[in-house]
Amino acid sequence: MMRFTLPRDLYYGKDALEVLKTVKGKKAIVVVGGGSMKRFGFLDKVVNNLKEAGMEVQLFEGVEPDPSVETVMKGAAAMREFEPDWIVAIGGGSPIDAAKAMWAFYEYPDCTFEQLITPFSFPELRQKAKFIAIPSTSGTATEVTAFSVITDYSKGIKYPLADFNITPDIAIVDPALAETMPPKLVAYTGMDALTHAIEAYVSTLNSPFTDPLAIKAIQMVNMYLINSFNGDMEAREQMHYAQCLAGQAFSNALLGIVHSMAHKTGAVFSTGHITHGCANAMYLPYVIKYNAKCAEARYADIARSIGIDGTDAECVQALCDKIDDMNKQMNIPKTLKEFGIIEEEFKEKIAEISKNAVGDACTGSNPREITPEVMERLFTCIYYGTEVDF
Ligand code: FE
Repeated sequence: MMRFTLPRDLYYGKDALEVLKTVKGKKAIVVVGGGSMKRFGFLDKVVNNLKEAGMEVQLFEGVEPDPSVETVMKGAAAMREFEPDWIVAIGGGSPIDAAKAMWAFYEYPDCTFEQLITPFSFPELRQKAKFIAIPSTSGTATEVTAFSVITDYSKGIKYPLADFNITPDIAIVDPALAETMPPKLVAYTGMDALTHAIEAYVSTLNSPFTDPLAIKAIQMVNMYLINSFNGDMEAREQMHYAQCLAGQAFSNALLGIVHSMAHKTGAVFSTGHITHGCANAMYLPYVIKYNAKCAEARYADIARSIGIDGTDAECVQALCDKIDDMNKQMNIPKTLKEFGIIEEEFKEKIAEISKNAVGDACTGSNPREITPEVMERLFTCIYYGTEVDF
């Protein structure tokens, strides 16, 4: 038996935040990150709308990027004291991810992270509160997904949480919030969304329910991302919806090794962080070449959906060229060398990284199997920009 789960309600379009005036409840806690939502006035709007709905509102501010276990526990404690019946998370992926985990510990204070990391093993949520997610970036789609990532800095571990219990009840996809993104963030989050849609479409768990969402997302990214990057706010609005569609697809079909590789290279090199979406954008064409040995027809479907024609093989090549071209237009490097990773350090660390990437939770649904040795060859192609012919 398979399952397909999405939020109960999705409000979208300009002024979608207005719906908060009609939510029924007594108390809402609003979970937010750094300060941009406050600076741009969106936090005030959220709070005022909830008050207009007759709710008592409390803020939990300052969720950091890559939220920590400590932040989650602090938030859960605040919730236990305030006893909200709505949790409202607003911002980039981080405050929403953090709030999802806070929700679990609010309702089940005796739970541990170790219990939660087994996929799809959460206790039954919604005993105390329901959840509203309001994204300000157009990439992670955490407003519609069953996922959250929390970091234990003391152990140096990322806990990927996965359970349909943490799929929000209501997603509010208001394009005004995405207008605040700087171009670099538009590029990275946009390519992250494209990767979500492509990986979901070729995933071993793809289905008739996820395919149309993935294909529509790919078509919209193809049509709008570059213009959004160049400051066209109508395109920005469409990208905000496209990433949300991609999220609906991958929340149910899962991902593949582009994500495995991005997860395990994000924070390992001394030259600095490789942003998630940037890593995905770089790795995607190489992984398509590798996976095409097993999923050529599926990639050809994707290519044809954006107007490319030819044989399956020609379509796959043209799809990779298309991604290369998009990356180039948004100043995303083509190789890890070009990105600035030091050759010696790459060689030193690549065996360990490859082993970790194969062990990542996203590897299981990749259309082609991979060993640590082959992963190392794939990474080597990405480092030097050489052809993937194995
Ligand atoms: Fe991603």
